[in-house]
Formats: sequence, C-alpha cells, structure tokens
Amino acid sequence: MSGAVSINPLHLVAVVGGTHGNEMSGVTLIRHWLKDSTELMRDTFTAVPLLANPKATEKCVRYYERDLNRCFTRDILFSSSESEDEPYEVKRAREINMVFGPRGSIKAYEVILDLHNTTSNMGVCLIISGTHRTLEMHACHYIQTHLPSFDPQIYVYTEPGSELYDLTSVGKAGIGFELGPQPQGVARADILQNMKTLVKVTLDFVNQLNQGMEFPAFEVDVFQRVGHVQFPLSPDGAISAVVHPSLQDQDFSVLHPGDPAFLSLDNKIIPYTGKQPIYPVFVNEAAYYEKNIAFIVAEKIQVSVPALTSISEKRTL
Ligand SMILES: [Zn+2]
Repeated sequence: MSGAVSINPLHLVAVVGGTHGNEMSGVTLIRHWLKDSTELMRDTFTAVPLLANPKATEKCVRYYERDLNRCFTRDILFSSSESEDEPYEVKRAREINMVFGPRGSIKAYEVILDLHNTTSNMGVCLIISGTHRTLEMHACHYIQTHLPSFDPQIYVYTEPGSELYDLTSVGKAGIGFELGPQPQGVARADILQNMKTLVKVTLDFVNQLNQGMEFPAFEVDVFQRVGHVQFPLSPDGAISAVVHPSLQDQDFSVLHPGDPAFLSLDNKIIPYTGKQPIYPVFVNEAAYYEKNIAFIVAEKIQVSVPALTSISEKRTL
C-alpha cells in the first residue's frame, strides 16, 4: 500500500439543498429526504439532509437578503459582534456552522454535498475548493468512472489564494453538484434524476472507502477558476451586448483570443480580448446578471492524485 493516503472512516455526512432557494433539484430532493431518508442510508453511515435556506426556498428566490453561499467567510462565521438586525443569511450561515462545523474543528462534518442548479449548460459539474484535497478528488474521480455518460467535469471555484466562502467549507470535505441547464424555479425530471444518481454514487463511494477499499492513484483534468468577464455596459450601466450565439452553451469548450464573445444590440461582434485561450464556464448564468458577469474564466490543468484508503473498522478489530 505504498504511498496511499490513509484516512479514518467517515461517519458524519450531510446532503444539503436549497442553499439557493430557486434551484429546484436540491430543494425537491431534500424535501423528499426530510420525509424519508432511506435513500441516504448505507452500511457504515446515514447522511443527514438539510434545507439550507428555508426563507428563500419558501419564496422560490436565490436568497432572502444576501447570497447564503457567499456568507461562510471567516469574518462572518467567527465574528464576535453579532446583532439582531443582521441579514437572515448571515445568521443562517452561523447556525449551519454550528450544526455541521464549526469549520476547522474536530467535530466538523466529514463530508458535505451541496446541491445546486445553473441556467448555464454546465452539464454535470463537480465543484471543489482545491485540487490538494485528496478525498474530494477521489470522490469526483469515482463519479467520473462510474457515471461516464454524465461526462462530469471537475471545477475549482476558489481562485488561487482566495478565501473560502461557500457552505461546504464548513465541513472537513465538501463537493458542490452544479447541474444544468435548468431555469430558476423549475424542477426538470432529467436533471432531478441525475442529481439523485450523483448523490447515490457519492454515498456509495464513501461507504466503500469506509469498508477499507483502496482507490488507486490517478491523473485527471480539472478546470480552475482564474477570473470572470463582465458584459459590455453602456454609460448608464445597462448591458449593451449579449453573449454571442457561438459562445452560448459552450461551457468547458476552449475560447481563443479574438473568438466572438458578445453580440451588441446593433449586431456588432465583440471578440474575447484575453491574451490566452481559456475555458468559459457559467456562460450566461441568470444569477450573475446582478453583478453584470457574463461568464467565469477557467484554465484547464492536469492534477496527479495519490492513492486513497481508510483505516477500515473491520481491519482494526
Ligand atoms: Zn446555487
């Protein structure tokens, strides 16, 4: 077993939906699992379901006062100056940190799966906070090898050196499932089924790991976020061009400098002006319009991941 990373079995596992209240795969599945969690049971653990943002979910909006999935910063989670008139999501982030964390503590949950939808053509996207995280990388690779028809892509949402801010960061390990395209506030059966299958396969992976299975080393391509591109704006701040038809739906496909990026309202092509070829993701995501973000810029990198196993309970008897 040379070189394998060995970890303790994972018993504290959570599945979260409704972090964004209008992303209906997670909202619908979590409501189902809160009534009947049979599908979350495995031999070595039972995953705990949580509806993360009940107020936003009730109104079928992304958030009530502030984007919950940007509230898990060190400043918010560990602030000593809490007040009653703070935004709902700030309070909620602290509550979730107490339930599944506290972040960085020994009692923090070992795996958190957070279920999201995007209006972009992201297919099945597996979101992690860093490629150095061996457990998450293996979970993603297990999903890729067991669900090849999903063509899952791995995406690192944190830019190099940036702080963690999402819900999964409360746990010791976490993966966001980002499935699309699906309109906000809508539950499509095909995407719902894919989300359910992803959760099933990931829980199976954790169960097999807990039972002492060794997962060999591998190399894999990962998309690393490095920036974003804003819509062209007119002097009054309004969007003056839309995503070009040749870029629309082309998430994870290479975009070269000079390729069409936008189409102005007088039908002029506005090219991508970056210096290097990049991989656009979250192309024309509805939730990013409030920040005038047209797409996120990612680079494709190859990552080597060491073998992984757990100190099986059976073996230690
Ligand atoms: Zn989301």
